[in-house]
Amino acid sequence: MISVEEALDKILALVHVLDPEEKPILEALGQVVAEDIYSDISVPPLDNSAMDGFAVRYDDIAGAGPSNPGLLEVLGEVAAGNVFTGRIRPGTAVRIMTGAPVPAGSDTVVPFEETDEVKRKQNKETLKTIGILKEIARGENIRKAGEDIRKGSLVFRKGTSLRPAEIGVLASVGKSTVAVIRRPIVGILATGSELVEPGNPLVPGKIYNSNTYSLASLVSRYGGIPRILGIAPDRISALGQKIRRAMKTDILLTSAGVSMGDYDLVKDVLTRKGEISFWTVRMKPGKPLAFGLLHSQEGGKVRKVPHLGLPGNPVSAMITFELFARLALQKMMGMEPRQKPVIEATLRGRIENLERRRYFARAFVRKAGNEFVAEITGPQGSGILTSMAQANGLVIVPEDAIVAEDGERVRVMMLDWEGDGL
Ligand code: AMP
Ligand code: MG
Repeated sequence: MISVEEALDKILALVHVLDPEEKPILEALGQVVAEDIYSDISVPPLDNSAMDGFAVRYDDIAGAGPSNPGLLEVLGEVAAGNVFTGRIRPGTAVRIMTGAPVPAGSDTVVPFEETDEVKRKQNKETLKTIGILKEIARGENIRKAGEDIRKGSLVFRKGTSLRPAEIGVLASVGKSTVAVIRRPIVGILATGSELVEPGNPLVPGKIYNSNTYSLASLVSRYGGIPRILGIAPDRISALGQKIRRAMKTDILLTSAGVSMGDYDLVKDVLTRKGEISFWTVRMKPGKPLAFGLLHSQEGGKVRKVPHLGLPGNPVSAMITFELFARLALQKMMGMEPRQKPVIEATLRGRIENLERRRYFARAFVRKAGNEFVAEITGPQGSGILTSMAQANGLVIVPEDAIVAEDGERVRVMMLDWEGDGL
């Protein structure tokens, strides 16, 4: 039995970054930039106003105050989207709106509030002249050309994950498409002669296939494209057929058939049709985890598809996905593989770890005052999927701890973490 870390190393050593694709920026959310991206323009392209007000020459308003308003001739007006074609000479100003380019000759914008515009309007006076009631620092309220992004500069390094902010930045430099690492197509195959798809009648001896659905949802959540391959009964021939279809995917996830029983054929297939890298990991749940490469001949070349044989128990399948498959997908998508964040919390409940494996106990973490409390979500049998639905994290009991007592400080890997307020 190997450790969680060894198993992860072996998996990551055999999965590879996929090739790039060019995509509309809106479809690239969550993907990783495949090459360094430079800007062809400056953002903003021109000096522009950060306020509604008057574009002036600082020298004309130096020393202005309520008792000695600097009076300036107003040459005209410029709104966002237009350019003022004239030039501001000594003693003149231009009425300007936020986002409008600053007229030539002007170096400062005085907001409306610091002028006598409102008073003039009330008194029905002309706006051909404006009084500046306050000295504003030179350069104030002007957003300089290129202050966000300079023309020719590096915007995003290869490997950057595209979040909403990055998508916005790409748009701001005028890119409508972006080269990203493509999403992995993930084959999902449930094995087991007892399985029936939801929506069909349940006859005695059968159970509904839930793994396909939880696993496909995990694949989608973490950026992969699930390809459902259905159910293979526990017969070598059935399994072989399905696995041929799996050779068209980037990675295959199977569930069940990796334990010690007579009908646990998945690891046999992996051994016969490829190379097995490991089987069984020192963890609970999730011990019977198999990994290797499936081989197929394709025009004289051998194609190798990574195959992660997840355990059949619904909780084990999900937890091993989170710990291993998720990171494999991250690597394939060009990301740095990272486990979920681990926090410290006070345990509510008691966890026995007599088998000395690394125990991942389902728990719900909440904030209590200034610290976190992790409450075990009921019975921990690896078939009890509802306790996974109630959990937002996994308490980690190390291999060398026989028990974690109520009230003990424990480490918790957070699978889902909604905020607890500010
Ligand atoms: P196995 O690894 O084949 O021994 O399966 C372990 C347990 O998980 C058995 O109780 C199976 O019935 C159950 N199981 C296997 N596959 C699925 C599945 N796709 N959905 C729900 N339960 C499953
Ligand atoms: Mg089985």
